[in-house]
Amino acid sequence: MADPCLPPLARPHLRDMEGYEPIDPPELVARELGLPPERIAKLDGNENPYGPSPRAREALARLGSLHLYPDPWQRQLRRALARHMEVDEAHIVCGAGSDDLLDVLARLFVGPGERVVVSPPTFGMYAFIARLYGGEVVEVPRDGRFQLDAEAVASALRRGARACFLASPNNPTGDLLSRRELDAILDTGALVVVDEAYIEFAAGDWPAPGYSFYPLVPEHPNLVVLRTFSKWAGLAGLRVGYGVLPVPLAEMVMKVKMPYNLNVAAEAAALASLEDLPLLMDRVKAIVAERERMLGALRGIGWLEPLPSQANFVLCRVKGRDARQVWEGLRGHGVLVRRYSHPSLQDCIRISVGRPEDTDRLLEALAALPIPAGDDAREAT
Ligand code: PMP
Repeated sequence: MADPCLPPLARPHLRDMEGYEPIDPPELVARELGLPPERIAKLDGNENPYGPSPRAREALARLGSLHLYPDPWQRQLRRALARHMEVDEAHIVCGAGSDDLLDVLARLFVGPGERVVVSPPTFGMYAFIARLYGGEVVEVPRDGRFQLDAEAVASALRRGARACFLASPNNPTGDLLSRRELDAILDTGALVVVDEAYIEFAAGDWPAPGYSFYPLVPEHPNLVVLRTFSKWAGLAGLRVGYGVLPVPLAEMVMKVKMPYNLNVAAEAAALASLEDLPLLMDRVKAIVAERERMLGALRGIGWLEPLPSQANFVLCRVKGRDARQVWEGLRGHGVLVRRYSHPSLQDCIRISVGRPEDTDRLLEALAALPIPAGDDAREAT
């Protein structure tokens, strides 16, 4: 029998906390739906449908030294990133995905009752990690058109918050943070974490200096820019993220992170991806082109209102129908998209950009959805 004393000994804020809402593995969904796995169009996780680059796959196949611990200083990958990004490697720290670095930053900056500002709808991980450390999450909601209110974020920070987490492009709204907005928020002196997990899909380039704020880090002691290999390089399953941080902060992160947070497979695949940039960037361009084709097609569906996007996903408002039923209907056809329970997104679905055949399958499934009673049949086509 389980010891009845143990759960009460766990820290109360964690015992009562809601968990992160993860997505189900596609094999499980296929089994549930009675469909063969190849019939699933997985458009719910913003993953790269083309997977790792050939060189990354080769590096993984050749991998030796699996019995040895990885380099806690992550020297090879930090050096390679520094060379490509033209920043000193003292600014760079890698992690098991950018999630890991978000966690380490929260460990450093957020204690019980300390305030963290987020601007929903945004990536749920920010509030989740703040709560893990007992922090108080201050929400500065985006407006009805999902626009960020940078002045309100800055005011919330000035009222005693320690840090804010912003995504550019934002997940799920797909829009970029502007330099003017960033400056207003940086002026507060609080820690500003800009999460650029999807930035390559905005610039179609790597390291994307046109839109990325990482070149500003050396001149701003309170700015951190997080990036990842999960999206543009197709390594989500391996967990490789990195951050560009002010040097004193990078040193602190190095000190408090788990020593072996970048595993040898992740490091080898990331290094090989940097050797395969032209191919990976061609894939990014294909995804961007597919995003625009998908957007055009979705705009033609009367009951969907897709938002423009700078990322590898499109958020759609569902009008005159129940978004949950649309999500379920698509799922029944093997097309997995993301739905939300947050009130601001209850009438929305988010669709990741896949290969052209995934978009075709999505469009077929949308057309096959039953028309709700009272709906205008012409609108549904
Ligand atoms: N930031 C944002 C905005 C994301 O949407 C995601 C993943 N969905 C991540 C970070 C996590 O990236 P990683 O795989 O590098 O942990």
